[in-house]
Amino acid sequence: MVVVLKAKTREEDIRKLTEELKKEGIDVCPVIGKELTVLGIIGDTTKIDPLKIEAHDIVEKVIKVQEPFKKANRVFHPENTVVDVNGRKIGGNRIAMIAGPCSVESEDQIKFIAEEVKKSGASFLRGGAFKPRTSPYSFQGLEYDGLELLKIAREKTGLPIVTEIMSAKDIEIFERDVDIIQVGARNMQNFDLLKELGKINKPILLKRGFAATIEEFLMSAEYILAGGNNNVILCERGIRTFETYTRNTLDLSAIPAIKKLSHLPVIVDPSHATGKRFMIAPLAKAAVAVGADGLIIEVHNDPEKALSDGPQSIKPEDYDALVKELKPIANAVGREI
Ligand code: PEP
Ligand code: MN
Repeated sequence: MVVVLKAKTREEDIRKLTEELKKEGIDVCPVIGKELTVLGIIGDTTKIDPLKIEAHDIVEKVIKVQEPFKKANRVFHPENTVVDVNGRKIGGNRIAMIAGPCSVESEDQIKFIAEEVKKSGASFLRGGAFKPRTSPYSFQGLEYDGLELLKIAREKTGLPIVTEIMSAKDIEIFERDVDIIQVGARNMQNFDLLKELGKINKPILLKRGFAATIEEFLMSAEYILAGGNNNVILCERGIRTFETYTRNTLDLSAIPAIKKLSHLPVIVDPSHATGKRFMIAPLAKAAVAVGADGLIIEVHNDPEKALSDGPQSIKPEDYDALVKELKPIANAVGREI
């Protein structure tokens, strides 16, 4: 349930109504926007009479929220959420460009790629240290050593680092060392992990599970938001369909759909969506055209020798060319790169 307040309602009156509502045993989240102030009501609202709330002078209207996701719902928070990562914004006018290798492999590798993608205009560095591999015999990542190498690359370039967490036991280390904590597709419904990530304040990049509906995806975001962490960035990275030519099927329709349903920023990962290098550029362009707030792209200096996801990794020079081609597309939809 959402209580929309009249324009120019005084803070004092908002506070009074909030307290009155809380007495009914529900949780009230005031969202004070530029245009609109709303009170999001969460919990058992069955005993709440909307007409009684509407009787207050300061109340414009009361809206019932049909969807099971509440805090992630745009009705609760009509304006776009902009996540602040040490001063760099995700969800605002500028398209967030995240780039780097699938896996951190060595100090030279991560430093070199970080410098290259920075020169091309990337504003965040990605790199996996803990890798969720299908086979236990595949390279599992450099783990804690990988985090140290990411920190060195950050030191050298100033790029904030994005890396995947696999276990709640590592949250303290990630909270201290990482700028954006990635939750991979395979962990999208690891509810224990999501609950723990809700207790911290670090930005979370939540990737869509490969068999998750948009509603399930938003319910996973809701787990993090429900704990009090509002810094959630969603990532469409392809879903599994009957098609086998591509690694996954990039669901571009999810971008406008999520933008309508939710206020959270949504970025696109064309690398894991397709698994194929030649498809990265066209789908990155399409993603920007349909309103994505950012792109996360795998870039490797020597894709043939990459320890993971070589076939979908593009070279730094291809990344450079792609960023140049994306600029006019971003401008055409009123954004910047
Ligand atoms: C990754 O970003 O390297 C990764 C494993 O992605 P996903 O969880 O989307 O498969
Ligand atoms: Mn990868």
